[in-house]
Amino acid sequence: MNIYEKSQIWFITGAQLLYGGETVKQVDAHSQAIVDELNRSGRLPIPVVYRGTVNSSEEIATQLRDANSAPECVGVITWMHTFSPAKMWIHGLKSFQKPLLHLHTQFNREIPWNTMDMDYMNLNQSAHGDREFGYIVSRMRLNRKIVVGFWEDESTQNQIASWMRVCAGWADMQNLKILRFGDNMNNVAVTDGDKVDAEIRFGFHVDYVPVGDLAELMETVTDAEIQALVDVYESEYELAPNAQADGKDRLQVWEAAREELAIRKMLEHKGAKAFTTNFDALHGLNQLPGLAAQRLMAEGYGFGAEGDWKTAALVRLFAVMGYGLPGGSSFMEDYVLNFQGDGAILQAHMLEVSPSISREKPRLEVHPLGIGGKADPARLVFTAHDGPGIAATVVDMGDRFRMIVNKVQVLTPPADLPKLPVARAFWKPEPNLSVGAGGWILAGGTHHTAFSFDLTVEQIADFAEIAGVELVVLDENTEMFRLKEMLKVNEVYYRFMER
Ligand code: MN
Repeated sequence: MNIYEKSQIWFITGAQLLYGGETVKQVDAHSQAIVDELNRSGRLPIPVVYRGTVNSSEEIATQLRDANSAPECVGVITWMHTFSPAKMWIHGLKSFQKPLLHLHTQFNREIPWNTMDMDYMNLNQSAHGDREFGYIVSRMRLNRKIVVGFWEDESTQNQIASWMRVCAGWADMQNLKILRFGDNMNNVAVTDGDKVDAEIRFGFHVDYVPVGDLAELMETVTDAEIQALVDVYESEYELAPNAQADGKDRLQVWEAAREELAIRKMLEHKGAKAFTTNFDALHGLNQLPGLAAQRLMAEGYGFGAEGDWKTAALVRLFAVMGYGLPGGSSFMEDYVLNFQGDGAILQAHMLEVSPSISREKPRLEVHPLGIGGKADPARLVFTAHDGPGIAATVVDMGDRFRMIVNKVQVLTPPADLPKLPVARAFWKPEPNLSVGAGGWILAGGTHHTAFSFDLTVEQIADFAEIAGVELVVLDENTEMFRLKEMLKVNEVYYRFMER
């Protein structure tokens, strides 16, 4: 994915000239060794670029100003090898706008008990140097990620890698354009919201495209293009008998391919990486473009049904953050409850679930769809694989955005669903159905979610901090009583602190 290829994380080491130039030279060599090891580890999805030591307010301000204006820099790691008097950081941090990770590490793993002298002490001061730096960042009320650990350790490197994926997602979102084919579904509240405030807060832009423009573009799609794409369908999926070359609904597969090709052209033409559809706005289209949404999601495009641009942005975010990881991610909707046993929820949509989460080779089927008033749409039918994942949403609370994330356990459904012609997942929300679903409802969460097998609650928390939005976490530690109290505290915090 382009964002990973063109991005860098800058590494800046805080020091000072109090201990003389020789010490700073050693600080510099140690910093370079750390950065080299981080890059050599193979665990980081984005290269780290060492930018040198900073020893004065001017040097710090220059480095952070350069980080702001360098498009390739998607985040900055700081480390205070020696003491870096933190008033020096005020001017630089005042204008700093990129994600910040403060690495609390030390060049040597162990205290050299028999040989340590005052020179060693003066050189290896991050234990208190990082606290001085931490104070000024806290004093200035700046959000940042703090990672504590030895730089050669896998767990430290993995924490940095995890944060880097958030940085990539954030950088992508600053240039993200979302196309809406049709408006928000009439009367639906939770999927709507303030697109101006969303652009200020999250950076993405939402444009309307008349569905008639898409219909016009469909007329330019050639039979050869459609044939080539249907060949891809044949190779990637099992085709139901009615969808096969001699099947009675083959034409619907053909028309689904035409829609996919036109949507692709429109997205590329507009430079958009996410889109929404609305089953009420299909004029000039043969069918609801469900197969197109499924396949484009699997390639990393964001998608939201019924005009849900906020979820489309999150689905894109999850695709970027989870790029290259094996589990997959998707748009999803809470559909049907199962109170049997521990309790779980069947997840599905009319059509639009990404095959990246499938446990099996998806089956391409054509069936009637009761709403939308169009011809029978093609769709991929499959069941999601097992495993832990997260489901998240963003809702507009009127005065702010609230992000909600729920840890979930995706399960093998206890039985097949032979009569259900849509893709599905079956999950138990953490800590259980009662608190997971109850907490989600209390927090005002959508019926639509962005889902990922590859991301963690911590990464969503990092993202929410970078964006500066409220985050509600529903996980194995959630209790309803505490959640209620926290939501009340958040009302105060976000009304009086953030704005
Ligand atoms: Mn829906």
